[in-house]
Amino acid sequence: MRTIAFALLLVGFARQGDAGRPLPDRTRCRQAAAAKAWARDLRQIPSTVIDKGVLRNVPYTSYRAGEYELNVYGDPSAPAGFEIGIHKELLKSAAAKKNCFDLVAGLLADAADRALLATLKQDADKKIRAGITFEVTPPTAEDAYGGWWVSVYSEPALDRSRASATELEKITVTRQDVKRIDEGAKGGSPLPVDPLTQGRWAADDLSGARSRKDVPEEKQAVYAPAYSRKNGAYVPDRTEDDTGYILFVCANSDKHEDREEILKLCTTCKKDETFFWDLEKKCFVGFQCGNPYDNALVKCTLCGRVPKRVRTKHR
Ligand SMILES: [Zn+2]
Ligand SMILES: [Zn+2]
Repeated sequence: MRTIAFALLLVGFARQGDAGRPLPDRTRCRQAAAAKAWARDLRQIPSTVIDKGVLRNVPYTSYRAGEYELNVYGDPSAPAGFEIGIHKELLKSAAAKKNCFDLVAGLLADAADRALLATLKQDADKKIRAGITFEVTPPTAEDAYGGWWVSVYSEPALDRSRASATELEKITVTRQDVKRIDEGAKGGSPLPVDPLTQGRWAADDLSGARSRKDVPEEKQAVYAPAYSRKNGAYVPDRTEDDTGYILFVCANSDKHEDREEILKLCTTCKKDETFFWDLEKKCFVGFQCGNPYDNALVKCTLCGRVPKRVRTKHR
């Protein structure tokens, strides 16, 4: 009996990041980046399905701030890896590379991991410590999509993070379908809600996604903006991280200067709440309490004007 319990304990340790040191979850990665001065405009962008190499069929979430890009791979609540990279003009910037190293260092809980990271050569390097790989990828690498990257990942965990064909079917959409759905959605909403807040990509969002050269553009697929892993299977889902305060800008009013309105209180339970747009109910719904937010109350509290575009903002 005792032997079995001990064996189970060992299995438990082996599963946790393969070294007893889990990587930061997606929320933590996003929040760490969002707190940086260089990532003020951090926003989620579509992530293109990769079907080759170590990242093959591993669902991931991408964020972009200017020419910086953050990717978090696998289960959002227990990622198998994350990376921060730079593109275009920033490729020449030593300061931008330092920002990337600093972000990654801040996300590593283990002092020995941080020490190892600091020894990586900036042009290209790869070191492994106790199951976790630390890598610098140059823009010339085949899988770099023209960017320079600092990556931290567990290869065994990536292997366990691949989505099956059935799961992929549920959590991905082709570029062609993104455009078709976006076209069909025009004018169908009682409030002008940003597509991402609705839980879908807009055709315009696609320009920010990685582009593959080996598949015709229309056939390339991207991961849905919101998914999670439940009982080992990836499913379309909205986690708290996919919700936020209701935000809009009231501009050109004759009653006040241009201003941002942020609605934080649930009108039913009066609590500080984050919301998501419910496509069926056609209104915002409180994530914790589940109560609908009356569309008629989504208006400027100073002049009463109805917003031109509404989205949610992370708490
Ligand atoms: Zn409520
Ligand atoms: Zn107003």
